[in-house]
Amino acid sequence: MRISDDRYSRDRLRLDLALRFIQHEARTRTIRSWTGLTEDRIRKLYRSYFDRTGAAAVPRPRGRSPQQASFFTRSPRLKQEAALLASLCSLLGAFPPRRLPRTGLAHPGFGFAQGLALCEAYEAYRMLISAAHISFEHLIYLFSALNRGDELRLANCAGCGALLVVERMALREPRCLQCGSLDE
Ligand SMILES: [Zn+2]
Repeated sequence: MRISDDRYSRDRLRLDLALRFIQHEARTRTIRSWTGLTEDRIRKLYRSYFDRTGAAAVPRPRGRSPQQASFFTRSPRLKQEAALLASLCSLLGAFPPRRLPRTGLAHPGFGFAQGLALCEAYEAYRMLISAAHISFEHLIYLFSALNRGDELRLANCAGCGALLVVERMALREPRCLQCGSLDE
């Protein structure tokens, strides 16, 4: 009994997380890698969700996933929004408590709790920024890049200590928009 209960609640968690990802217009591939559900099951979930709620169909995302770390440092506005998202992720416990040691596995495998924390961070971000520039797919990309640490990293503003997203090889001392403008 115990085992099937566990299996049931694990399945429940998978479905809940997949639904949250669907609401944020995540790609099927992203949902698959975070929940372990098959593509077929995700498609059925899309259908049953929209049949049941009568919600206007969320446009199925098409095209390529975001692949450029430079997107987040392209403009002062994007830098600010990326910093806000990273701060929300950090506050909501999305980042692992410490960098995972290299296990030799291709992906360390993020848990359901982290997936839910990302959804909560994204929902808070959308409430705070009325004209948001960063999609949920971009947040997933940002989160993975920060965890890999090969292109982007978290840093603290040298002036006020605010959390910032910077390019890994950035040479200048990191400064937030406000502290940067005080220097000029
Ligand atoms: Zn600052």
